[in-house]
Amino acid sequence: MSKLEYRFSFTEYDSIDELDPEDAWLLGEARDITKSAYAPYSQFLVGAVAKLANGEIIAGTNQENASYPVGLCAERALLASAATVYPNVPINTIAISYQTIGSNGNHPISPCGMCRQALQEFEERTNQSIRLILGGLEGKIFIIDQASQLLPLAFTGKELKK
Ligand SMILES: [Zn+2]
Repeated sequence: MSKLEYRFSFTEYDSIDELDPEDAWLLGEARDITKSAYAPYSQFLVGAVAKLANGEIIAGTNQENASYPVGLCAERALLASAATVYPNVPINTIAISYQTIGSNGNHPISPCGMCRQALQEFEERTNQSIRLILGGLEGKIFIIDQASQLLPLAFTGKELKK
């Protein structure tokens, strides 16, 4: 028997002012795009903006539905769009922000489990890590160097090979 350990570390910043200009710009775009979210049921507006390896910028927002499970998270809206418009182009960084109607998000949120799975496979298929910048409209910011670090022992396509 052996006991194994998984280590995870990330960086916390007190505010957007501590980020380098390119990261601050991307988070600013994610904050802005939260306004485009369609979230009449949760009133939880999420925006995600990616800088691709080819320099292009792609955004996604959450898109809810009266049939709740039909709703799509901002992260997966973004990944689908990026892979459609620029197939096989890796993503360097995704900034994710949010607000709830009536109040500003003031702490970082991180991707849900389903989005972690989608991010992990996107990294694998493009053979490149995705950095995440997580922050509300104000407050602390987390930077995670590799999205798949959020999903230890991930289930992957390798398991499906005979
Ligand atoms: Zn999600």
